[in-house]
Amino acid sequence: NDEEASAKAAAASADSGGPTIFDKIIAKEIPSSIVYEDEKVLAFRDINPQAPVHVLVIPKFRNGLTQLSKAEPKHTEILGHLLHAAKVVAEKEGIMDRFRVVINNGPGACQSVYHLHLHVLGGRQMKWPPG
Ligand code: C5P
Repeated sequence: NDEEASAKAAAASADSGGPTIFDKIIAKEIPSSIVYEDEKVLAFRDINPQAPVHVLVIPKFRNGLTQLSKAEPKHTEILGHLLHAAKVVAEKEGIMDRFRVVINNGPGACQSVYHLHLHVLGGRQMKWPPG
């Protein structure tokens, strides 16, 4: 709803380049519900799900990728790996024929965690435009 959307917008912050909560999730200092993991990426359930399936796919080594707008040619391999992992997550979650992958970039797009992450959403009819 609108209230939730404005709360999320208010929570959105700018890129400080500092550590984020995802470092602790990767280090398993904070428990998360892991859906998929390999040597390069971790996929875990979002704590505030916006759909029956809402999984975040993140690189284990941020390597400057606080947000997609920081992507450089050296990141193309991990970017491809993340997108492939999103497909694996959709497959595991049984939503292969109806899922959405989202990357929020910057405060204007409600990015709140500055460690690149793909949202994999599905399990319900998705609306368009996303808003
Ligand atoms: O795209 P955005 O930066 O807003 O997404 C961050 C996501 O991380 C949110 O959907 C939020 O619910 C999720 N999150 C989480 N576990 C945390 C902190 C944030 O799943 N401990």
